[in-house]
Amino acid sequence: MKKISVIVPCYNEQESLQLLYQELCRLMKAESKYEWEILFVNDGSKDDTLQVIQSLSAQDASVSYIDLSRNYGKETAMLAGFDYAQGDACVIMDADLQHPPMVVRDMLRKWEEGYDDVYGKRTTRAKESWLRKCLSYAFYYILQKSAKVDVLPNVGDFRLLDRKCIDALRQMRETDRYTKGLYCLIGFRKTYVEFETQDRVSGSSSWTLRGLISLAIEGIMSFTIAPLRLATWVGAITATGAFLYALYFLIKTLVVGDPVHGFPTLVILILFFGGAQLLALGVLGEYVGRIFHESKHRPNYFVQTYYSAKK
Ligand code: UDP
Ligand code: MG
Repeated sequence: MKKISVIVPCYNEQESLQLLYQELCRLMKAESKYEWEILFVNDGSKDDTLQVIQSLSAQDASVSYIDLSRNYGKETAMLAGFDYAQGDACVIMDADLQHPPMVVRDMLRKWEEGYDDVYGKRTTRAKESWLRKCLSYAFYYILQKSAKVDVLPNVGDFRLLDRKCIDALRQMRETDRYTKGLYCLIGFRKTYVEFETQDRVSGSSSWTLRGLISLAIEGIMSFTIAPLRLATWVGAITATGAFLYALYFLIKTLVVGDPVHGFPTLVILILFFGGAQLLALGVLGEYVGRIFHESKHRPNYFVQTYYSAKK
């Protein structure tokens, strides 16, 4: 019998889990020709999420869990899920029921047809501010124009991955993770199923605008060196401009013999080049910072407990 693991990263989800579990039970009943494993990854929740998970796993042998030593963020929690999942295919889904479990049935059909990576494509973005929509649009635009891999917009982490993909993803141990890009990077046969995003059943999204912006920067910085290239171009153009301008002044002074005119020009130039240099340094710094993080080769996460009824 083929085994399917459902990986659910959870951070402060005590209210949603019971409901999610019920939905997953419906799914498992409908697809009883597979053996199922529900793998909860407790990402250092501060509420009673762990207790809820433990009571579920006490009732049901198909529920297993990983309790991480602290909050690492969803990207790392997913990696932990990939490492411990036992299935021939894995489904990743959010704990807040924004990803309707019944859609997994369509994903399974596609998987049986021979696809390795079946992703859920959102047909609507439920309740998001226009600012968030615009930023998200801009982000995908920049990423697609600059990175060599095609990162798909409106596609989240809700997907079914074959064992091949899981093994590929597990080999990428970078600390600054941008899993959405990694899915595209690994390739394999991909297809999609459409689904409508639901509103969270309870609580609020743990993403702040700041968090999203930093994830966006992460996405761009970890997939492309286009900003460095841009800094080089801006540098080259301004330097050429500056050189020509300097030449003009030199000639003018030699020919006309100019006294101390042009103070504003001087100030503007100093500020302009100062700014351009700082900007380029900042971009450079972002990459150096990433080299610093990766070069330490620290483990991605630590596990407090791992529990599985069937090993
Ligand atoms: N999550 C996590 N660690 C975190 C933040 C979130 O494991 O530090 C989980 C969370 O419990 C949920 C999923 O990641 O299952 C998506 O989080 P959320 O709903 O807050 O994000 P959104 O749906 O707005 O992208
Ligand atoms: Mg959510």
